[in-house]
Amino acid sequence: MTPGIALIALFLGMTAAPAVDGARVVLNGTAVCLDAAGGVAPCRAALERFGWETPDGVVHRLARAESIVTMLRDPRVRERANQVTGLRGVTGEVEVVSIRAAGDGPARELFYFCAVCNVRSYSPGPCPCCRGEMDLREEPVEGPWR
Ligand SMILES: [Zn+2]
Repeated sequence: MTPGIALIALFLGMTAAPAVDGARVVLNGTAVCLDAAGGVAPCRAALERFGWETPDGVVHRLARAESIVTMLRDPRVRERANQVTGLRGVTGEVEVVSIRAAGDGPARELFYFCAVCNVRSYSPGPCPCCRGEMDLREEPVEGPWR
């Protein structure tokens, strides 16, 4: 456990066990990078596979890309995100639905936004409309599911 993870665990307090509601999961914790074998590895190179380490030390595998999970390639997101909501499939992998920053007050959903085009995106990279750079934004959400 790294000091950063310990700090987040402390910060999130009592929610050590992931909340499970059927196939829906809300996981507090922090992103970790996984190697091809599914083990926790330093975040570098391809950044193809991610896991989510909850404060109890369990690493939940996240379903791989073409989904919102590609946001975790962005170090700004990895450093800020501390809650994912998703759907756990039969393989145990979690398909990520949203990536959030938690802390004081309501959780804030993380997304990219182009003010020029008024476009919202969950994929890092240039704006799909004007190809300009998109800002990383956060916006409060009411509950774990909208
Ligand atoms: Zn744009």
